[in-house]
Amino acid sequence: MSEWSPATWLITGGRNRTSGEPLNVAPVFASNFYLPDDRLYSRSNGTATTDALESLIGGLENGRALVFGSGMAAAAVILHRLPVGSHLAVPEEPYHGVAGLIAEGEAQGRWTVSRLDQSDTPAWLDACRTADMVWLESPENPLITVADLPTICAAPRKDGCIVAVDSTFATPLNQQPLDYGADVVMHSATKFIGGHSDLLAGAVITRSDELYDELHQRRLLNGASIGAMEAFLTIRGARTLGLRMERAQHNAMELAQRLEAHGEIDRVLYPGLPSHPDHDVAARFMAGFGAMLSFEPTGPGQRATALCERMELVHHATSLGGIESTMERRATIVGQERIPPSLIRMSVGCEDIDDLWSDFTRALEATRRP
Ligand SMILES: *Cc1c(COP(=O)(O)O)cnc(C)c1O
Repeated sequence: MSEWSPATWLITGGRNRTSGEPLNVAPVFASNFYLPDDRLYSRSNGTATTDALESLIGGLENGRALVFGSGMAAAAVILHRLPVGSHLAVPEEPYHGVAGLIAEGEAQGRWTVSRLDQSDTPAWLDACRTADMVWLESPENPLITVADLPTICAAPRKDGCIVAVDSTFATPLNQQPLDYGADVVMHSATKFIGGHSDLLAGAVITRSDELYDELHQRRLLNGASIGAMEAFLTIRGARTLGLRMERAQHNAMELAQRLEAHGEIDRVLYPGLPSHPDHDVAARFMAGFGAMLSFEPTGPGQRATALCERMELVHHATSLGGIESTMERRATIVGQERIPPSLIRMSVGCEDIDDLWSDFTRALEATRRP
């Protein structure tokens, strides 16, 4: 699809190439169009703006993209294509919205579910032979575990088994699940792709025309379309994804090392650190280790909360993938009570690394027990 590397396609994809037209496709605010034409109604046929965003995101994964009003809308469309009675293999801790959707379908008797340890590759290989859908999320919340995607996606499968990968944390720059053999990739473009914490958007990408048609039809029926302004802003944000990821990953590696060496941090989880259990797996196939890390400060859980509140530069907020750094204590999130009580998950942004570090040293000092 795109002859360019993803880093270049982010900048050049999804543009007008017609003389006299603006370089950027404008937000088209429209529900309907004059007849007769192939484009009738934007929930069915999209607009020039959503076409541009789909071309941009599709080119990053070398497939055909469909964009959605949120990452959850994208995930729901993939899951709800499963016929009643299907068997699903999923990670133990997928994104909590996705986990809720899976648990709901299970409770309704819609499907049966096996929950697998992210790093238990043999269990995933077995699942490929028995499940109707293998749903992977890698790297995954909140321990930033990494699945061996190239091995699992290429494994022999039961007839009709679909492998889907939620690649949100990695972005299309760090891994290419369709190249490894996955059928469909999904992104919450709310996160790194949009990159500015100012919109909700989702995307799925596939190389199968059949699956594309099916997901397109399901999006239409579910009414899961993206708005014009969000589509425009997602393109606008994505233009700098390469630059942002380069800086954020560099900051994440540096912070992970400094935190690991700090006497008041019990544990740091970042796949770029040799101490991370999945470091070797990640190093084998990922182009970068991403900008998400978790750590546990010494002391009780309340100290972790106090630390989040004492940070001045790093925002105490949920979600991830913005140009600004954010962090939160995960055990305080509903449904995440199994998480170690002091675990803080951080989405590392693009601020100056020494400013970030001085924010940490000051807040650690301020929350130290006398
Ligand atoms: C945020 C997120 C989602 C859901 O996306 P929304 O855009 O919030 O609907 C799904 N998967 C992962 C890994 C996420 O981080």
